Amino acid sequence: MTTTHLPGFPRIGAKRELKILLESYWKRDICEAELLAGARELRQRHWLLQKGAGVDLPPVGDFSLYDHVLDAQLLVGAAPARFGFAADAIDTERYFQLARGNASQPALEMTKWFDTNYHYLVPEWQTDTAFRAQPERLLGQVREALALGVRAKPVLLGPLSLLWLGKCKGRTFERLQLLPGLLAAYRQILAALREAGVEWVQIDEPILALDLPPAWLDAFPASYRQLQADAPAILLASYFGGVAEHADLLKALPVAGLHLDLARAPQQLSAFLAGFPADKVLSAGVIDGRNVWRADLSAILRQLQAAHAQLGDRLWLAPSCSLLHSPFDLAAEIALAPDIKAWLAFAVQKLNELRTLQRGLRLGRDAIAGELAGSDFAQQQKQHSPLIHLPGVRQRIAALPAGADRRASPYPVRAPLQQAWLRLPPLPTTTIGSFPQTAAIRASRAAYKRGELAAADYQKAMEGEIELAIRRQEALGLDVLVHGEAERNDMVEYFGEQLSGFAFTAGGWVQSYGSRCVKPPILYGDVSRPAAMTVDWARYAQSLTAKPVKGMLTGPVTILQWSFVRDDLPRSEVCRQIALALNDEVRGLEAAGIRVIQIDEPAIREGLPLKRADRDGYLAWAGQAFRLSCHGVDDATQIHTHMCYSEFGDILPAIAALDADVITIETSRSDMALLADFSRFRYPNAIGPGVYDIHSPRVPAPAEIRQLLEKALQVIPAAQLWVNPDCGLKTRDWPEVEAALAAMVQVGRELREEIAPAV
Ligand code: GLN
Ligand code: ZN
Repeated sequence: MTTTHLPGFPRIGAKRELKILLESYWKRDICEAELLAGARELRQRHWLLQKGAGVDLPPVGDFSLYDHVLDAQLLVGAAPARFGFAADAIDTERYFQLARGNASQPALEMTKWFDTNYHYLVPEWQTDTAFRAQPERLLGQVREALALGVRAKPVLLGPLSLLWLGKCKGRTFERLQLLPGLLAAYRQILAALREAGVEWVQIDEPILALDLPPAWLDAFPASYRQLQADAPAILLASYFGGVAEHADLLKALPVAGLHLDLARAPQQLSAFLAGFPADKVLSAGVIDGRNVWRADLSAILRQLQAAHAQLGDRLWLAPSCSLLHSPFDLAAEIALAPDIKAWLAFAVQKLNELRTLQRGLRLGRDAIAGELAGSDFAQQQKQHSPLIHLPGVRQRIAALPAGADRRASPYPVRAPLQQAWLRLPPLPTTTIGSFPQTAAIRASRAAYKRGELAAADYQKAMEGEIELAIRRQEALGLDVLVHGEAERNDMVEYFGEQLSGFAFTAGGWVQSYGSRCVKPPILYGDVSRPAAMTVDWARYAQSLTAKPVKGMLTGPVTILQWSFVRDDLPRSEVCRQIALALNDEVRGLEAAGIRVIQIDEPAIREGLPLKRADRDGYLAWAGQAFRLSCHGVDDATQIHTHMCYSEFGDILPAIAALDADVITIETSRSDMALLADFSRFRYPNAIGPGVYDIHSPRVPAPAEIRQLLEKALQVIPAAQLWVNPDCGLKTRDWPEVEAALAAMVQVGRELREEIAPAV
């Protein structure tokens, strides 16, 4: 009998119940007991749902009040010492202090979980970090599940991945030094799980999909030899990429099973089937846990034919990775177009797909003939739907002239042509685009969406906000102005709603971190721009001032990166389509007299593939898409881009290759650490390193801004330097923004005087 299991389930809840619980608790609207009871109820509901859907081994321990990597640190008693908490004294209150900071300690740092949009809390390792097994919380959840008659399969983040994902605090040292102590704690935890009646435990080692140094790979056999001694049967899980290059190592590990991501890396299956050990199960991650598309069941059955013939019941079925990254239930989407809905599967639907495949393997294809026909029909519909295929889009890409991704002239020729009409002073000042999204703005937008505010009235309200923003910027004395983005709910959604090829859900939330969720658009079809998206707002803003107004667009890579993307075209091709649709907007802005245009690409770094060998290819097409969005733009039009909150040091050449005339980039949080990279890599065009940390309500003193700019001037020639904040100002209040920008403009002017002769 084929077994099914889940690597993990979305813990946030169908209606974001966990978010509501957490935020109510943080506001003290509910007490700890209510929070914990609510969380328990949610877990139990999810287990029963999985059990009802026929999942043989539902996961336990994938639920978390904030983050599963934090939970893994606490499971081994390794909360950062700086908080001064004893390993066995972490109650709910202290747990949230670790996650969110307290009066004396900042929170644990947060960073992206592999190439997903989920953020985990980074473990902090010190040479003397001690480990002490703290299995009680996990055991409690195991007992809860067993009591419901659920065959609980605890999920643990593996010791090597946990170590790897943490950072050395203080002095750097080889983290593997900590492994022996860590393994001892894991052994105790595993023994306790076995004692509690657990048959299978899933141990996740997602780092296997990265380029690991040999010492880390070499640590696997001995580590797992130790772990399996008193453990339940271990299913070792890899995901987010292929691990075929480690097939021999993994097949030889003393574990009872291996889980492979066959959605991301289907081709790795054959490397594992060759000589697959007779004492192991192979868990085939065939349902894509990272995307929203309905599975092609016939294709999956074909893909599994050989494996099933060889392994029989030792072939298990699962989603490729935890369903944490998938929205909860498609059934709730009553407003979605039925044609499009038929192509989708969220977490709940994926459970059904799993069960269907299981029946197909157990009883043969005939037993699931109806489901297969339904799946085939959906695939065919999708292949031929006029909703997806816009012939004009393909033809346009095919007809692009050679060099369409290059400006007419190189930067040294363009810069003086731009300066000839812009006549900017040295060290020009600007902002990143958005101004405070006040309660009034949000209320107008909500009323307009509900149909309570007429389009004309909404437009008036937004024009009022634009006028206010322009007047304030003029009063501050900024050089290049923006319209303020009052009309935008979200920088991707705003464009997705106006481009063809995007659909939006009412409740397709995915956890981003803690209680925060995002609702990515679904990019299902060819992308085009039926009508101008931003031109009227920008034109209106420009009509109010003699200063140049900068048009503001979200770039093709960022739109791609922050959406659920169709899987029937390469991402590079989809990105190119978005780029051309944006190109129409760029040209529309230009025609309307907006000749400074910013194309934001904050997500460019996030798309970087996990494996080094794939990175250059990605950077090449991502860069090309950005440049295509500027196709045909006049040399005298000044193109800006903006990036933030990523490590850019190692992709500076690719950033330079975008050939934007100006880049504004976040730096002030790291005290301009990025500048060290710029001293090694001479950035060829103009650049504005952020001098105002917009994540803090603090208004920076002029002296601080001055210090940052002086630092910048040491590595960036004055003629290339711009003065601007780190990022958009939409989360701030006007009084802070006005005070901070006044300081910024003042310092810019002072320095301008001092260096004037040099420029
Ligand atoms: N133009 C956007 C803004 O100012 C950029 C936001 C971002 O970088 N995430 O809000
Ligand atoms: Zn930004």
